[in-house]
Amino acid sequence: MTQSTDAARASRTRRQVFALAAKSAWKAKKQTPSEWGGENRVYGPETGVPGRRNPALTPYAIPFAAQFGDPKYRRVVAVMAAQMAKTETFLDIIGERLDNRPAPILYVGPSKEFITDQFEPRIVSLFEQAASLKSKVLGGINGKRQKQTLKRVAGVRLRLAHAGSSTALKSDPAAIALIDEYDEMLKNVKGQGDPLGLVEARGITYADFCVGVTSTPSHGMVEIDRDPVSGLEFWKVGEEDDVQSPIWRLWQEGTRHHWAWPCPHCTDYFIPRFALLKWPKTATPAQARREAYIQCPRCGGAIEETHKADMNARGVYVAPGQSVDSAGVVSGEAADTSTLSFWVSGLASPFVTIGQRAETYLTALRSNESAKIQTATNAQFGEVYVDGGGDVPAWEEIFAKRLGAHAPLTVPEDARYLTCGVDVQKGRLVFVVRAWGGRATSWLVQHGELWGETSKPEVWEDLAQLLTAPIDGDLIKLAFIDSGFRPGKKEGVPVNRVYEFCRRFRRFAFPTKGSSVALIRPLVKSTIEVTQQGSAQKYGLELIRLDPDHWKSFVHERLRWPADQLGAWHVHSDITEDYCRQLVAEARIVLPSGKPQWIERSRENHYLDAEAMAAAAGYMLNVQHLRGVSPSSAPQEAAASAVPPVPTPSLPAIAATSAPKKSRFADLAARLNR
Ligand SMILES: [Zn+2]
Repeated sequence: MTQSTDAARASRTRRQVFALAAKSAWKAKKQTPSEWGGENRVYGPETGVPGRRNPALTPYAIPFAAQFGDPKYRRVVAVMAAQMAKTETFLDIIGERLDNRPAPILYVGPSKEFITDQFEPRIVSLFEQAASLKSKVLGGINGKRQKQTLKRVAGVRLRLAHAGSSTALKSDPAAIALIDEYDEMLKNVKGQGDPLGLVEARGITYADFCVGVTSTPSHGMVEIDRDPVSGLEFWKVGEEDDVQSPIWRLWQEGTRHHWAWPCPHCTDYFIPRFALLKWPKTATPAQARREAYIQCPRCGGAIEETHKADMNARGVYVAPGQSVDSAGVVSGEAADTSTLSFWVSGLASPFVTIGQRAETYLTALRSNESAKIQTATNAQFGEVYVDGGGDVPAWEEIFAKRLGAHAPLTVPEDARYLTCGVDVQKGRLVFVVRAWGGRATSWLVQHGELWGETSKPEVWEDLAQLLTAPIDGDLIKLAFIDSGFRPGKKEGVPVNRVYEFCRRFRRFAFPTKGSSVALIRPLVKSTIEVTQQGSAQKYGLELIRLDPDHWKSFVHERLRWPADQLGAWHVHSDITEDYCRQLVAEARIVLPSGKPQWIERSRENHYLDAEAMAAAAGYMLNVQHLRGVSPSSAPQEAAASAVPPVPTPSLPAIAATSAPKKSRFADLAARLNR
């Protein structure tokens, strides 16, 4: 009797074990974390979105989660903006594993406070949401065996650690490790090293170990590269020096999958990103919230918030090396690497509208504070950002160029022309004289300031002296003098003094004006009628309109030009710190409209303007087409090969040609335009 009861009991237990094993095996094979989340998690009324969890709302998170069910890669990296349901995805991964195939899990957050105040309560909610999991919590959710940073579920440990708790990071083995807000974490552990190595060492005993690393990105500068095969615009792998963001660096090491959408207009797939976000010109943040849209890079069509859900539903990840057809079928192979990496734009979030993202960004931009603009770019769009947006060197880098440079007021042998740029201030003229050689290689010959009220004649006499005296035996060929180079300049320029000076030296001095609208060419000549001061008489004057963005960009581009290459940009041996600081006093950013904007980092920026004008003057002399030899090879041959392949510039005032003025301008314009 007893025997038979025992046998029956044993048999029943065996059946239960087999049933459970079969069920587990089925689940282990069939259920992804997202499926588990959808089937098992029900949000309570306190969450604001009560009801069953729907992972399909954020389809871009599903492939990330799926890797933890069947890890082909040992490391999975996801770069995301804020409010992308990243934590919910983590909870799916943790819940599925604990429920279906229990194994120890390590979660690492950026700080102790983040763990205790933000993440642990979410874990407790997860246990509440999933009935099957709740029943496996040792001693119940509020039981004594549950600690704030150590949960015991289904016979295994779920440890919550932060980067500063190195004992916790070194303690338990883990089958899954999740590292959250990685960039923030590394900011907190300055000098203590990267916890990623410690965390990955926890997984040695698990054949299917997988670590997931996610973060919003931080500092960095990356470019967009159009793939010639797929036509998709991928993030180009940034240089080591240009990318400081730790998550972006990890992402670059991996497959570099990008979340792509099908355009509702042309059906082609494209990669949504900040650069495609548009709003009406001069829109206020509030107006941008209502009117912002995404512009399809393929057909130019305007894509709105109402299209988002459908595009997300049909969204796919595509990596460089792969293509996607309009049916959403991805072909080709991603890079062969042990890191699977995903990037998705903040624009794909179903929880924040396109307009809200634009509004937050524009609000930050209005603050004119680099840190706020950076935060907006990182958190709203999941993109890296560098102060000023452009690759501006430190002033020290320029200052260091003086070592071994030529002496001031000497003109290097390879130089062909001297140009001068003059920035007009209320109380002084700020000038540079630059020498030009092959392929616009240039040497600073002189920089300085002429002091005196520019509304009075005296300082202009000093300028006349400067411009007409030979320097090292050479005369200045062309001088550009500011009559309003910086659109919206606060201090008024005594324009009539500039005009009178240029009329007097019309052979080589021209007034310039910066255009606030984009010009079809970086330099455009026009004739203006000027009223002579103190009389009704008028005279015609050639005014050079310049594209300030083009010429300032030219200078900044040249700052880092290799010194041994044609086109190098040299300083002399006696430059001042002030000169260097002024050159980098502005940084270029590109607005989402595609329009560049120069942001003042310091008010003293006159040498940058003067250099920009000197460069424009060089361009008018065609220095970019001067033939030349590389300075590293046989400099003694330079004189022979530096003969310009183009005719001497046929500026009316400079050239001794008798062709009619109009045709000579047409000729010049034609050459400038090619
Ligand atoms: Zn389109």
